[in-house]
Amino acid sequence: MGVNASIEAPWQGKIYYGDWIDADGGTVEVLEKATGEKLAMAGVGAPSDIAAAAELAASRQPAWGDTSFEERGAVLRRFADILEAEAEHVIEWLVRETGEIRPRATHEVRISVGEVREAVAMTSQPYGELLPSGDPGRLSIAQRVPVGVVGGITPWNAPVILGIRLFAPAIALGNAVVMKPDEQTPVTGGLLLAEMLQEAGLPEGIFNVVPGGAVTGEALVSDPNINMISFTGSTEVGRKVGRTAGELLKRVSLELGGNNALIVLDDADIESASSSGAWGSFLHQGQLCFSTGRHLVHQDVADQYAEALTTRAENLNVGDPWAGDDISIGPIINQTQLDHFVDIVDRTVSAGAEVRTGASGEGLFYQPTVLDKVTPDMAAFEEEIFGPVAPITVFSDEDEAIDLAARSEYGLTASIYTRDIGRGLRIARQMRTGMVHINDTTINDQAAAPFGGMGASGNGGRFGTLANWEEFTQWQWCTTRERGPIFQF
Ligand code: NAD
Repeated sequence: MGVNASIEAPWQGKIYYGDWIDADGGTVEVLEKATGEKLAMAGVGAPSDIAAAAELAASRQPAWGDTSFEERGAVLRRFADILEAEAEHVIEWLVRETGEIRPRATHEVRISVGEVREAVAMTSQPYGELLPSGDPGRLSIAQRVPVGVVGGITPWNAPVILGIRLFAPAIALGNAVVMKPDEQTPVTGGLLLAEMLQEAGLPEGIFNVVPGGAVTGEALVSDPNINMISFTGSTEVGRKVGRTAGELLKRVSLELGGNNALIVLDDADIESASSSGAWGSFLHQGQLCFSTGRHLVHQDVADQYAEALTTRAENLNVGDPWAGDDISIGPIINQTQLDHFVDIVDRTVSAGAEVRTGASGEGLFYQPTVLDKVTPDMAAFEEEIFGPVAPITVFSDEDEAIDLAARSEYGLTASIYTRDIGRGLRIARQMRTGMVHINDTTINDQAAAPFGGMGASGNGGRFGTLANWEEFTQWQWCTTRERGPIFQF
């Protein structure tokens, strides 16, 4: 079934809690980003819709938390199978609703299936510890219990994986979820996935989808039935979400922006480094939190690197990713985002940077751009660009490279290119980033690895099997005696 046949889908014009509902907040047109064509309608949540969805979720969560691990695993296993079987349909939606190129969308669906299968595995893992009891006949255990209702807020840039990485483990561990995808991507951000979870047999009220913007998001964060917020988005909005959650003493996990450095040392393999650099800055038009935002290159290889990166940029075709398989660079999500990074490019060039290639475009399509001679005081070095732009900054020794990498409030990820692994590991230990990769791209994600940032990239929350236990459960100490004691009172 293609996107055009989705007109028959039960979610058309609706939100989802318990069933497909007409939202108090009305509807929004779902647009194809490359063409502006209307693909569908989706419901938009008013605060009253959030309140109703959260109340339903809170009323159903305890029973789900008590459901056997076999049953929770079986539902999610069926969901993974449906997602896999429907991959082509989801890929088409991703390409057209977000502007992702097909290989990236294919990868996103594949790793999303992997996330769900990791979540299935969690259902049968041990969920506690046997503690020393201090008293014979007394059993003392620490057990992990669900947090309750998790409110999920996701951005438009990779809606399937960013949703699934939070709701699959949350549901596996006995929580209910109210998802608020961005209103620019309500279908891949939740409605399509809700249809599949319904088909997989998830009980009503455990997964709910209420698309919307800031007003809907604020209602979710402050709703009394929401016990935890898992937020992925910009640092600016993350700070607001964190403030409200702090005031209400809610658990909050913040996965925020990045301005990630790729360090190319003098002994680097330039062919691979420039390929990682191009992939890192241009994949999905540079609109990924772990895109390469700064290329820090040793002076001895700087020209060679800049030339290789420029050649790679010039070989990439820009256009509608649904119209042809030879397209590497699709549309920017919207005019505001485009204007935002064009302004960064303009200010950087005015300040003295050199355009190696690009810095031009038409409509929402922008040529992959390489800016050379960028210094740390320039906008393209200091700010998260979120567009297909690769700024190159030259350094003269290892200490300067480490210092330059640290000159950002963000701390999501970093890459180091060197043929000397010992040197790479030594530098890696000095990165104040949640993730670091030696001889690889900054764009790295794996269901079983702890994903998350430091500094302005997040509050230390993480995704990935081990981390998911920390995020989506809380400890409960439980003791039991055969017979109650008699105290002095
Ligand atoms: P954004 O912060 O504008 O929006 C993110 C989500 O928050 C959307 O669903 C939006 O509707 C909602 N929102 C907006 N205002 C809100 C408010 N006041 N209260 C509650 N919710 C609100 O971000 P964006 O522009 O859509 O996404 C791009 C940003 O996301 C970039 O900074 C990128 O680096 C970041 N991101 C981070 C990760 C990560 O894992 N660290 C992954 C992807 C994207």
